[in-house]
Amino acid sequence: MTRLIFLGAPGAGKGTQAETLAHHRNIPHISTGDILRQAMQKQTPLGVKAQDYVSRGELVPDQLVNDLVKERLDEPDTEQGWILDGFPRKVSQASFLDKLLQEKHNHQVVRVVNLEVPDDILMARLLARGRADDNEEVIRRRLEVYREQTAPLIDFYRDRQQLISVNGDQSLDEVTAELLDVIDS
Ligand code: AMP
Repeated sequence: MTRLIFLGAPGAGKGTQAETLAHHRNIPHISTGDILRQAMQKQTPLGVKAQDYVSRGELVPDQLVNDLVKERLDEPDTEQGWILDGFPRKVSQASFLDKLLQEKHNHQVVRVVNLEVPDDILMARLLARGRADDNEEVIRRRLEVYREQTAPLIDFYRDRQQLISVNGDQSLDEVTAELLDVIDS
């Protein structure tokens, strides 16, 4: 059973690797960022509420993402496993997820992958990507938000012995190979 959380800074390659691995394992790749972008595109009530935060590089309020993750993990396609990408992004979300998974899976351990990439490489990758929230000012803010609010999750999960670190500063295929190697060990 593969149940994984992908941590890592914006630009670390979480989305790409999570997608590849999910495909490999035939389990859903659940990206809160993708779900929010789709909702914004369709201008659903969730999208309208999230828009302003996403475009500024701020985190959307917990309530919105917690609800959407709870709903998504209730879908039947998650029964054989899942990969969460971009959630949790702060300790309060990690605590919410903990409770949710305890209720659902009765303490089965979920593993957490941290993709490590040096800062200068992150910036170059993000500038090259060209997403709507990828202009330099917003990128800076997203990296700041990551350092302040998300990076503490590395210690949070390391202390609980759930953390696996992977060198994200390699070619796509090399990162995938290392990931497949460590999640099976
Ligand atoms: P991502 O595609 O993961 O880089 O997410 C893009 C944007 O969506 C982020 O900059 C946040 O504004 C928002 N977002 C995604 N996931 C979360 C989350 N777990 N908590 C709060 N905001 C989020």
